[in-house]
Amino acid sequence: MSGDTIFGKIIRKEIPANILYEDDLCLAFSDIDPKAPTHILVIPKKPIPKLSDVTTDDKDLLGHLLLTVKSVADQLGLTESGYRVVINTGNDGGQTVFHLHLHLLGGRALGWPPG
Ligand code: 5GP
Repeated sequence: MSGDTIFGKIIRKEIPANILYEDDLCLAFSDIDPKAPTHILVIPKKPIPKLSDVTTDDKDLLGHLLLTVKSVADQLGLTESGYRVVINTGNDGGQTVFHLHLHLLGGRALGWPPG
């Protein structure tokens, strides 16, 4: 159910992660190589490889992931200062782990545009 990637192993607790939030549908944990003072990954437990693979069946799940990002950001005190949510998709998008994930980045002013 959770897929054959490093994130599938985190979902199944086969490898450790600093988990901030978990429910039936998703998991939020610290990125192992943070790109900002706060860098959290929010992933569905369903093993969707990338955003371009979602279908209308995933509509509620996608809403749930975004609401989870908002809730975790609030929990971490980022609401006032602001934050960025990123979904790298496919090779040109810079995706390296092919299990859908939302990056939550904050804790400093982030540059734009990305490289
Ligand atoms: P992508 O480049 O696919 O958008 O993002 C993958 C993210 O997963 C990267 O930011 C990378 O640091 C993170 N990552 C890769 N392997 C692990 C791991 O084993 N544990 C955790 N917590 N994060 C990981």
